[in-house]
Amino acid sequence: MDKQAIFTQVSQIEERIGDLYTELGGLKEQIVQLIEENTRLVMENQNLREQLKKLSRTEEGKHVRKRSEEAGGEGYDNLTRLYNEGFHICNVHYGSLRSDGDCLFCLSFLNK
Ligand SMILES: [Zn+2]
Repeated sequence: MDKQAIFTQVSQIEERIGDLYTELGGLKEQIVQLIEENTRLVMENQNLREQLKKLSRTEEGKHVRKRSEEAGGEGYDNLTRLYNEGFHICNVHYGSLRSDGDCLFCLSFLNK
């Protein structure tokens, strides 16, 4: 048994594990960014729906108004769902992952 060869092999494996660990960390960061971007897009989409709702309120009649109010309730539910999934819905941390439990800004926004 060549002890030096075994030691060299273990050292090489250790180095490869270190590289993989670094790579994994990078991927994890990218996933967080993608999730946050996706959340911001969901929120932006909802903001646009709200704008559309306001527009249709001013420009159209009762039918549209009724449909818009239903959409508004749906929007609130979406925000509540996002918050419960662990994202900020407040203007302060808009769309980023909540890492420290509840956020007072978000909660005050939900209770409006
Ligand atoms: Zn927040």
